[in-house]
Amino acid sequence: MLYAPTRAFLIDPQPSFNKWESLFLDQILASMKTVVEKMTFNPFQENTFVVHDGSSCVIIDPGCFNGSEEEYLVNYIETNGLTPVAVLLTHGHLDHIAGLDFVNRKYGIDVYLNETDLPTFTASHIAANLYGLRGFIQPEVPNKLMKGNEELVFGEMKFKVIDAPGHCIGHVVFYNEEDRYVINGDVIMQGSHGRTDLPGGDGATLRKTIFETMFALPDDTVVYCGHGPETTIGVEKQTNMAVTMRSLG
Ligand SMILES: [Zn+2]
Repeated sequence: MLYAPTRAFLIDPQPSFNKWESLFLDQILASMKTVVEKMTFNPFQENTFVVHDGSSCVIIDPGCFNGSEEEYLVNYIETNGLTPVAVLLTHGHLDHIAGLDFVNRKYGIDVYLNETDLPTFTASHIAANLYGLRGFIQPEVPNKLMKGNEELVFGEMKFKVIDAPGHCIGHVVFYNEEDRYVINGDVIMQGSHGRTDLPGGDGATLRKTIFETMFALPDDTVVYCGHGPETTIGVEKQTNMAVTMRSLG
């Protein structure tokens, strides 16, 4: 099974979480106005998120790659009576856009990408060939190219778009200040960080992003990662050895 049920991490906390940290995370999630649903898709085990306010939803980094994954995404949206209003992309790597052509054809909604990451996006079919990922369809260039920090509002959902380069050249994160979470793509992973060896990646830049941008967010901010389980800024500051041991840059 390629996808995991939402919030499984609360039942099965990862080693760097103790019981109290998990309960704390549970409290934060219970107080949120918007719902963040995680679905893990494609051979890269990429996390796709559907964020909704009970009526509208945005699809973040659609990675669904086969019929059953597409059906899972659509079923979730339909079962919850949601109307998709936009697709948001943290960056243009192939595992984060593998389902974009399907979503475009199914819903035909606005797609937001940081303009700076367009080279990453347009090179995805080349990367797919290198990985032997047959069946990858290069999606159309997004119609909403963002030019830097801005705020996006969809119904009750408000996101600050924050530049977060280093994993790739134009990576951004989507920060919901009110509900205290950030959809952080491949910047921070629980106990680790996104890789920096792909074209446009740079260790020193990612390190600056993590220390100066991500760690400037409040400690109780939930971090939704592009791969693996959720974490918080406070926990990563204290326990992320990959970052604190200065493996970057
Ligand atoms: Zn990536």
